[in-house]
Amino acid sequence: MTFGKLVGTWLLLMLSVPIALFWISPEIASGSDPSVALKLLAVAAGFSTAGVLSIFAVFRKWSGITNGLENFVAALPSAEAYLPEDGPPELQRLARAMREMAGRVRHLVDRASLESARRETILACMAEGVLAVDRTLKVIFCNAAFAQAFSTRTPVPEGRTLYEVVREPALREILERVVSSGTAETDRFQLPSAAGRWFEARALPLGQEPKRGAVIVLHDVTNIERQEQIRKDFVADVSHELRTPLAAIRGYAETLLDGALDDAANSRRFVEVILSHAVRLNNIAADLLVISELDSNVQPALPPESISVLETIQSAVHTVESEAALRGLRLELKNCEDCAVIGHRFRLEQALTNLLDNAVKFNRARGAVWIECSRADPRQVRISVSDTGVGIRQEDLGRIFDRFYRVDKARTRPVGGTGLGLPIVQEVIERMGGRVTVESQLGKGSRFTILLRAAE
Ligand code: ADP
Repeated sequence: MTFGKLVGTWLLLMLSVPIALFWISPEIASGSDPSVALKLLAVAAGFSTAGVLSIFAVFRKWSGITNGLENFVAALPSAEAYLPEDGPPELQRLARAMREMAGRVRHLVDRASLESARRETILACMAEGVLAVDRTLKVIFCNAAFAQAFSTRTPVPEGRTLYEVVREPALREILERVVSSGTAETDRFQLPSAAGRWFEARALPLGQEPKRGAVIVLHDVTNIERQEQIRKDFVADVSHELRTPLAAIRGYAETLLDGALDDAANSRRFVEVILSHAVRLNNIAADLLVISELDSNVQPALPPESISVLETIQSAVHTVESEAALRGLRLELKNCEDCAVIGHRFRLEQALTNLLDNAVKFNRARGAVWIECSRADPRQVRISVSDTGVGIRQEDLGRIFDRFYRVDKARTRPVGGTGLGLPIVQEVIERMGGRVTVESQLGKGSRFTILLRAAE
């Protein structure tokens, strides 16, 4: 029923009163007929029945339409929601306005959910761990990287307490500080529950007081921390290695100046000691230069090229020949095929010279050194340097490629060892895409094997 119809019905009912009065006015005027009372009763009954029925009909209709509108609003933003189209024009206008509003709401909701899906995907793909908490430190969001770092099961349900997800006092403290102060904070710490890894943490306030929470981003800096530690150890090792020869040179020079110069027998020995330490200092400086060049990642001026392995071996052999002859050692090339590899010749020569130098230094009198070179398979070249020397204990084999590691420091110093020869070999070979391995038997000898990609 439209509003117009309702008003019409109401007016009809209103008009019916004067009509009824006009109808019964003669009887009222004569004043005696009992049918007058009956007519009055009939008019009143008809009048009130029509009124009640029309009001009931109007209410039913209106409540049906408003129920429909309510259901429509409750179902928003679903596109399935039904919106009644009949009813009085005023309600139809309202329904039309609501339909338009529903379209806009749906558009906004779609945009918001797309935006949130995009954000969640970015956070899920991030290598950094991200955790957001509310003011009571209950989890609002936790990405996969964060859960993985602390071996927590994913997904972390919203509403978990921080303590249930990660038991790290350092994390708790920084989040509490940010929640209460509302200012960003950064820190770097090692977290035992993340397998002892180091993290750089940046915590930021999330939202405004009184509902301010915090979000923390954890950046894994374990490798950087390890590099820094290696650098610190390296500097400490270098200073330590330099101190011994410098102290010896100074001590012997002072002894000579204090009068030993006149002692012909001893002065020569003292000068020889000074010379051997100066040679050692020179070796350390040379190896440090190579190491720092390799560490700084500066590429040689010329690009890598195809190198003849046989020619490089011959040059390296040439460098150690005289020392081998002095010690009465045999230096032999065995089954050497001429293979080619890609790289920088001076670096491969340096690596081979270091291996040959060790094979000569740590050999026995009248021992032997063999160099072999062949194709390990169609794609790889194998170069090996074997000796009949002192050998290396199994427990030292894993450490001889560490910087400044010498199996027997006291014994290797007289032969000028720096403990940098093998680290240089390893670095050079790995940069050429190859690897170096060692086998050794104490008292019998050692064999260092290099595997390199063959040049096509
Ligand atoms: P160094 O300058 O002392 O030779 P390296 O890094 O070349 O330093 O070698 C580290 C240590 O490994 C040596 O001090 C030595 O104890 C051991 N080593 C290396 N090569 C051999 C070898 N062929 N035979 C026995 N020991 C070796």
